[in-house]
Amino acid sequence: ADGTDASPGAPSARLSPALKQATPIVVDHASGTWITGTDGRRYLDFTTGIGVTSTGHCHPRVVAAAREQVGKIIHAQYTTVMHTPLLELTEKLGTVLPTGLDSVFYANSGSEAVEASIRLARMATGRPNIIAFHGGFHGRTVAAATLTTAGTKFRSGFAPMMGGVHIAPFPYAFRYGWDLDTAVTFALRELDYLLQTVSAVADTAAFIIEPVLGDGGYLPTPPAFLDGLRERADRHGIVLIVDEVQAGVGRTGKFWGHQFSDSTPDVLITAKGLASGFPISAIAASTALMSTALPGSQGGTYGGNAVAAAAAVATLDVVEDEGLVENARLRGEQLLGGLRAIAARHDQIGDARGLGLMAAFEFVDDAGDADPGAALALQKAALDRDLLLLTCGALGNVVRIIPPLVVTRDEVELGLERIADACDAALG
Ligand code: PMP
Repeated sequence: ADGTDASPGAPSARLSPALKQATPIVVDHASGTWITGTDGRRYLDFTTGIGVTSTGHCHPRVVAAAREQVGKIIHAQYTTVMHTPLLELTEKLGTVLPTGLDSVFYANSGSEAVEASIRLARMATGRPNIIAFHGGFHGRTVAAATLTTAGTKFRSGFAPMMGGVHIAPFPYAFRYGWDLDTAVTFALRELDYLLQTVSAVADTAAFIIEPVLGDGGYLPTPPAFLDGLRERADRHGIVLIVDEVQAGVGRTGKFWGHQFSDSTPDVLITAKGLASGFPISAIAASTALMSTALPGSQGGTYGGNAVAAAAAVATLDVVEDEGLVENARLRGEQLLGGLRAIAARHDQIGDARGLGLMAAFEFVDDAGDADPGAALALQKAALDRDLLLLTCGALGNVVRIIPPLVVTRDEVELGLERIADACDAALG
């Protein structure tokens, strides 16, 4: 993505150029799938704050829960005094977390949850090394950035990174031009080779993987690959961490993205969609694994904030009551069907893929190489048509489409019309 995704203009010259602005829009208010700018223009939002506003913008029940909580207590530091929203959230999470992951703690962001999971795995195993997968995105703190290989900009210029991290191939079938089975076989063999030649089993604490590579290109992790990791983790006493920060809470059409496989992780981390926009993340594992951590080795001042926790409880209630996991599956099928039809008309769209409401186009040039310019051109043409889209991919050549879980059939149809128009304009 580096260098290819120039900003169309920051809304304030005082905002650091270290940030990247995808659009020049300044939001006045937002509701459901729609954002209204301060200029009164209405945009169809297929970015959801990078996969965060799961129940749509400002869902009335989330707003009500947060408002009510603000008047009761805002910050009840949960390792000092416990608060009701967090107890409720913990009970509620217990109903959706995989069996056996019965111990939970909280932080504020995805990166913090990733860091916490790494500390846990190292403490639980007494081993130093972590194996992550090529193209993964796990965050911007130094440990999380070390695990991140979705582009060099997350490390270039500020290395050295954390020690003990090794990167294994991801079964990126489209990139290799292989079928999925071949890619999975290759990636598992390379992982075994890594364990035999670089990071000995006795030194390897954890595998960390996303159920769908997010910022690295919206690539579903093949269930057979996850099963292969589970089998190796069991055989070698390695902790399997699944990073559900972007894919979790219904986005893929199942509650958790890893549930396309029968394999259960040892540690699950979630954030983004959990509280519809309030910052909170959760780290879940078995009580036995959690018990290997020294009391006080995890935590932080703001983790498990009372207002965020109340918003998370409301979010999980809305997801359940409005059948949003099923809606994500159905609207995802509609979306992917439409995207495939559009892709058939444009040679530059090498792959149209998706799981639920995590959908994407991957762009290639005539030689079959990554074409980040085409991705950027589509994003700009969509913006001209009041549709917000984001790019992603380790090489910046993917456009990702991330509607909220409440998106309606008509909104998906409208979005597809705008994408089709934008593709005609941008790609010819
Ligand atoms: N893991 C995954 C899978 C993510 O998608 C992200 C954010 N894009 C992170 C971790 C980091 O989360 P945060 O930005 O909240 O630190």
